[in-house]
Amino acid sequence: MCGIVGFIGKENAVEITIGGLEKLEYRGYDSAGIAYQTNQCLTVCKEKGRVSALKNKLVDAKSSIAIGHTRWATHGEPNQVNAHPHLSLSGRFVIVHNGIIENYQKLKFEYLDTYTFKSQTDTEIIVNLIEYFSKTLHVEEAIRETMSLLEGSYACLVLDTYNFNQIYFFKDKSPLLLGRGPKGFSFSSDITGLIGVAEEYAVLEDKLFGVVEENKITTKDIIGLPKKIIFSPIAISEEEIDKKTYDHFMLKEIYEQPMMIRHIISKYFKGDEMQISPKLIHHIKQSDKVNFVACGSSMYASYFAKYYFEKLCGIPSEVFCASELVYSTPLISKRPFFIFFSQSGETADLIAVMKKVKQQKYPMLTITNTMESSMVRLSNYALNIYAGKEIAVASTKAYTAMVVTSAILARSISGAKTNLKNNLKGVSLAIEKVLENKEICKGVAKEILQCNDLFYIGRGIDYWTALEASLKLKEIAYIHTEAFSSGELKHGPIALIQQNTPVIAIITQEGTNQITRSNLAETEARGAKTYVISSKGVSTPEDDIIIPNVAHYLSSLVSVVVVQLIAYYTAVLKNNDVDKPKNLAKSVTVE
Ligand code: GLU
Repeated sequence: MCGIVGFIGKENAVEITIGGLEKLEYRGYDSAGIAYQTNQCLTVCKEKGRVSALKNKLVDAKSSIAIGHTRWATHGEPNQVNAHPHLSLSGRFVIVHNGIIENYQKLKFEYLDTYTFKSQTDTEIIVNLIEYFSKTLHVEEAIRETMSLLEGSYACLVLDTYNFNQIYFFKDKSPLLLGRGPKGFSFSSDITGLIGVAEEYAVLEDKLFGVVEENKITTKDIIGLPKKIIFSPIAISEEEIDKKTYDHFMLKEIYEQPMMIRHIISKYFKGDEMQISPKLIHHIKQSDKVNFVACGSSMYASYFAKYYFEKLCGIPSEVFCASELVYSTPLISKRPFFIFFSQSGETADLIAVMKKVKQQKYPMLTITNTMESSMVRLSNYALNIYAGKEIAVASTKAYTAMVVTSAILARSISGAKTNLKNNLKGVSLAIEKVLENKEICKGVAKEILQCNDLFYIGRGIDYWTALEASLKLKEIAYIHTEAFSSGELKHGPIALIQQNTPVIAIITQEGTNQITRSNLAETEARGAKTYVISSKGVSTPEDDIIIPNVAHYLSSLVSVVVVQLIAYYTAVLKNNDVDKPKNLAKSVTVE
């Protein structure tokens, strides 16, 4: 959530920082701002709304040093005053901050009761604490003293107007990367912001403090002892984050799914053998229960992981919502194994759980799209889902990649002779067929466009797909959508059905075909406008969208593409900002 960017070096830092903010805009887009120096004077420019609005104000701006921010507000409404950067009271220091300071009211009361504040943000407390301590301490010590008081999460860049030759940085829990290249040093909340600017990057550790000058980096821990950072080459190219000819990143990412599945196969199979670490397999096999922990789409993907683990490996498994688990600890079995799913690998709700699990020394695996992430560093094991960069805020390909990776992992653990590789290839072909027939999904989108409420129903596997389907419609089409297990309708939710309420049934399994159809008929009898998405093998000619048959346990990888397209076209027809839906942001780095 939120993107911070900075640059010091030989090129125009304003241009580089704005370029970085454009690439990070999917992380937060309430407002954007930049601070830079020209002729030893500080300029701060900020705008409500998108980075483009900010860019228009900076046409001729030039500098060798700049810090910038795209915000996802936690404290104070998204307006120009609350936008970052924020100045200290005297104007000496200026800061950009990603994260949330939980004890900011206490700190304000204890140290800054004589200060006046311009914004409602928690961030303004950080920059003023630095100013407060710098009255008696060197800036570096003032920052480390401030760090020691902050509770919550932060990744910060600070400029000191008394010395414009350096950028201070410090972080805890929120992500921050430092890039190095011939042009100079750069900062970004994720690797996307460094592409084209840096050649190498270092993932900065928690509680790290540092300062960069044009040719020099100094890094220390919170008590001032030198701390080494390790640089690795940047492996992603501009091309990977290019929208190409697609109208939206979301559509591009939906279309990438067949190729992506083939790519995952190429990464995890050598011939017919799966390439998962035997140590990991052994460790999971020793456990008496696997606990899957995730949020949002990743949580819905992990229902499939649970299903595969129980059906294919015979290991009892349970799915937990991370934000619940952290505060209501369930009974833990004797030999638990924890598996975390996160696209970004930076999800704060998950990291909070991981820290508790680590204290207990339970083994942990992270399944993620971001191998350089905090979650990977916290885990004993990590598996890459190989989805490639996902830019649209609403997840599509990362979700399917998680389901595919889970199936591969479960099969590897079960050790059974298997057709999984061919079955997955069949899924790729089936998704291509769905994409060829996308107009049918557009047709459904046109019909549901005006509705206030919509229900997806299904049973078993199809219920989990329904959960993801309803999340997609909420996220980008802003339609109140719920997913119900079709059997549960009669226990309450059917009371919500009114004349023409759309109810969409997902039916891909033989065993639940007839019963789900009966439940759908019950809603139709009460006025619902019903739709059926079915697999060919269980379809009837009247069904609205019929998808090709694939191995039954993988069918949701195909049906989910239908519901992704329905959500996409509904959002497009409503003129919504598909890639940057309101109130949301990618990479949820606050709890
Ligand atoms: N808590 C800060 C604010 O509300 C930073 C939010 C962010 O990470 O964008 O301004």
